[in-house]
Amino acid sequence: MISTLYIVPTPIGNLDDITLRALQILKKVNIIAAENIKHTSLLLQHFNINTRLISLNNYNEKQKTEQLICKLKNGINIALVSNAGTPIINDPGYYLIKNCRQSGILIIPLPGPCAAITALSASGISSDKFCYEGFLPKKSNIRQEILKKLMYESRTTIFYESPHRLLNTLIDIICILGKERYVILARELTKIWESIHGLPAGELFEWVKIDKNRYRGEIVLIIEGYKKLKATNTIISDEIIKTFKLLYQSLSLKKAADITSKIYDFKKNIIYKYAIEQKINTKK
Ligand code: SAM
Repeated sequence: MISTLYIVPTPIGNLDDITLRALQILKKVNIIAAENIKHTSLLLQHFNINTRLISLNNYNEKQKTEQLICKLKNGINIALVSNAGTPIINDPGYYLIKNCRQSGILIIPLPGPCAAITALSASGISSDKFCYEGFLPKKSNIRQEILKKLMYESRTTIFYESPHRLLNTLIDIICILGKERYVILARELTKIWESIHGLPAGELFEWVKIDKNRYRGEIVLIIEGYKKLKATNTIISDEIIKTFKLLYQSLSLKKAADITSKIYDFKKNIIYKYAIEQKINTKK
């Protein structure tokens, strides 16, 4: 007798965001596999749910998966929850789901809270096309490498960020994507101190750094996608100059100006003239 594995999102701050269906499922299953038993116990207590809990986290997932699949194959229904939001989204559960699929076990996902989507919905940045990048690496040089790869990403990009890394991450965003790139800082969503603030990266950095409260708590960063500048524009931006300089390290002045002008749909002769005037036309 094969039963069901339910994926159950839980609130990201405000307990009222639990869905009626999530409560029904958490009550009716035989076991809840939780990222942190203590954390989920408090949630269950709040809603008077007494379902048995077992732990499933990043450290024991592989070992627990086998046991859980065995239970599922023997008619036990299981709900998977994480500490907050949608399980699997930067939370444990991927290995379990993958193996349940391979074993032909029925998986029923419930819709519900997710910090990335909650932040995106209020960002005012295009959400027709977006990509989710999870957490950026802790080390600045590796973080910069990732940002370089995203330099010309035209889709909106969503990151999760920790409060103690926020200022350094903003510095890297300014360095790589330019101070004009528009960024939304969504903090403490659904909680008392919720704040959603959007500014060009340079201004956002200045705004955040003057008050510690502006980088406390849980954070989602949303970065506007790369936009080509119009050919009618004659003001050369920091971003254009940076790209030109990067290309000029390995190409001729003419070729670097040519490619930069194509990337930004910007007049080649202005880049060329700028390089001559600013004496960028000599390689070090
Ligand atoms: N599975 C979760 C989801 O669906 O959003 C994400 C889990 S991940 C381990 C935790 C990160 O999500 C936090 O460090 C923060 O970046 C983001 N996050 C979670 N809750 C948040 C909230 N209330 N406001 C802003 N960001 C939040």
